Amino acid sequence: MERYREKGFKLTPQRIAIMKFLEGNKNHPSAEDIYLYVRKTFPTMSFATVYNNLETLREKGHISSLSIDPERRRYDPDTSSHHHLICLKCKMVVDVHADFKVNVPEEQNTAFEVLGSHIEFYGTCPECK
Ligand code: ZN
Ligand code: MN
Repeated sequence: MERYREKGFKLTPQRIAIMKFLEGNKNHPSAEDIYLYVRKTFPTMSFATVYNNLETLREKGHISSLSIDPERRRYDPDTSSHHHLICLKCKMVVDVHADFKVNVPEEQNTAFEVLGSHIEFYGTCPECK
């Protein structure tokens, strides 16, 4: 929690509950998943509150959001550079930790300083297969 104690970043009990749920979470949960969990402790908390908290955490760089699932934005507490694989049937998202050497072709990147890349793999998980 120490690294979150920065200026203007309030550690409300609701926000702490969200952060605790996300800490070390490898399931890449959606805002709905997080809402259903946190609601058990804070029954009066609205979905909008959960969503706004997630967006604040993302803006501050504490979590990242993934667009790999076209149906719902997914959140990842692991902000290190890594890639993802999604099962198109059950929507399970797993990490792919590998250092791919992918470059934008020389003739296309003239004005750009490329800061990173993210590869999305999709397929069928062993369970669904
Ligand atoms: Zn699956
Ligand atoms: Mn991840």
